[in-house]
Amino acid sequence: MTERVITSLTNDTVKGVRALHMRKERDLTGTFLAEGLKFIGEALDQGRAPRMLLVGEDARPHSLLDRAKAATLKAGGDIIVVTHAILEKISRRDNPQTVLGVFEQAYAPLDSLNPASAPCWVALEQVRDPGNLGTIIRTADAAGCGGVILIGDCVDPYSVEAVRATMGSVFAVSITKTTPEAFLTWRKTWPGSVVGTRLDAKASHRSAVMQRPSLILMGNEQAGLTDDLASACDVNVKIPMRGRADSLNLAIATGIMVYAATDDA
Ligand code: SAM
Repeated sequence: MTERVITSLTNDTVKGVRALHMRKERDLTGTFLAEGLKFIGEALDQGRAPRMLLVGEDARPHSLLDRAKAATLKAGGDIIVVTHAILEKISRRDNPQTVLGVFEQAYAPLDSLNPASAPCWVALEQVRDPGNLGTIIRTADAAGCGGVILIGDCVDPYSVEAVRATMGSVFAVSITKTTPEAFLTWRKTWPGSVVGTRLDAKASHRSAVMQRPSLILMGNEQAGLTDDLASACDVNVKIPMRGRADSLNLAIATGIMVYAATDDA
């Protein structure tokens, strides 16, 4: 494929990319949208080339853009030059990024994970907020976690909102989807500590023994960690709260937990 120009907002390719805001379309195509050169640079660093690279006609020359174009062509993808109006329409923003990439989704099967490859892993039960999930993926990357495991009915990590919140870490962190049943079976082989987080736990997160690799379980934003999963943990802990707030935001609590589990790692 070579470079082509699209100027019509009603072009089928443009419609297809816009549809990636919908989970149904992402599930159907197995692709997602990443916006901006920073994201595309992260992807290239991880050996992931875009299936389609959309470049605004007003995009400034940049060595990373040249690299992205070369990688796209080498992988057999399309390069499409589009108008500013098309970028606005696709990103649903007034000041869109001038380079967008359509990438293939990647999930690591549960059985392929190597717990010993990292000091800490994160498992999320029914996370519902895309901003929380994206922030957790970014934080897991920063803390050096092995990956993020999504248990049960979770928000799509490849939604536009979640991907934006990862700031590019969506390409660096292994993401796994599983059911509560499969997780509970797999958990039996975990070589370190499995640590649940609950507001009714007695132990504080600082006092609990966390033997590496730690697997940190976080609960749903409304309902918290279910009894089934909490009772499968070696220990359940609470992060002390000293004011009037009755809980921490899920992503903040995950950040505190993963840094406690990886301190001096
Ligand atoms: N109403 C829910 C409950 O009773 O658990 C609150 C859920 S909280 C907003 C979402 C998740 O963040 C919890 O399931 C837990 O994993 C984590 N979390 C929030 N605050 C926490 C704290 N102080 N200690 C431990 N985990 C916490």
